[in-house]
Amino acid sequence: MADDNSEVSEFYEGTDRFRLAGKLNDLWGENLHYGYWESAADDSPIQAATDRLTDLLISGLGAKPGDRVLDIGCGNGNPALRLVRARDVDVVGITISETQVAQARKRAAEAGLGDRARFQYADAMSMPFPEASFDAAWAIESMLHMPDRGHVLAETARVLRPGGRLAIADVMERGPVTPEGRAVLDHIRTTYKIKSLSTVAEYREHLARHGFADVEIHDITDNVARTGMILADAVETIRDQLVPGLSPQEVDSVIAFMRKAATTRENGYLFLTATRL
Ligand code: SAH
Repeated sequence: MADDNSEVSEFYEGTDRFRLAGKLNDLWGENLHYGYWESAADDSPIQAATDRLTDLLISGLGAKPGDRVLDIGCGNGNPALRLVRARDVDVVGITISETQVAQARKRAAEAGLGDRARFQYADAMSMPFPEASFDAAWAIESMLHMPDRGHVLAETARVLRPGGRLAIADVMERGPVTPEGRAVLDHIRTTYKIKSLSTVAEYREHLARHGFADVEIHDITDNVARTGMILADAVETIRDQLVPGLSPQEVDSVIAFMRKAATTRENGYLFLTATRL
């Protein structure tokens, strides 16, 4: 599987051509995920909005004190630490970036939570954990990078105990897809090293097939779409450092694409919860 994931690893290691993930860490601060706004009138800054998306997942997961939670694609560990603090749980985070493992461990140690939040390099396609070893699991914007979403859901079902909860936030494809929408989705997939974008219907099928019930899927596209515009503005501020050797025209087209993606209806976003049977 290593080869399947190498592009994604490079993206998060910041060694790919755009080095966007590394820059995002500087620009964005703590969370490597979208923000959530209650309404058009909600003017929360990006940091508060990304924490709010984490909080949505925290409530959806419903973990109890002492639970053992798996964070699939943990990024730099910030969402996991927020969950530990909010719910007094123990978290194990996995990522395919050694840089992120080191960042997350440092962050946990600095917060005095090194024994509650542990991070390791592991591929979600083949999780190094025994059956039924977690009470809950979440995946915040990581499923889109998986070579096989169904297989990762099967792995998740395997390591969750019966009755264990699952929460996922993921970019999705919203049909019907026009040719123009398809072009934008294809561009998004290439730029962000996305393996696939699922539809709501595909998620329902995968979850049912791999032993999940009580599935609730929410289309929260309207609450998160502003993120793309903010990202484009942020990238604009660092345009000169974006990639050595990238022409101004190329930088313009990257930024224009980000703005277009943010207003493309087919570029959707979902939040789901489910229970392992
Ligand atoms: N959940 C974090 C990070 C999102 S970025 C947050 O919300 O801030 C996507 C994450 O998925 C990265 O940490 C990346 O390393 C991880 N990831 C991608 N493919 C993976 C795989 N096959 N196995 C484990 N983690 C993976």
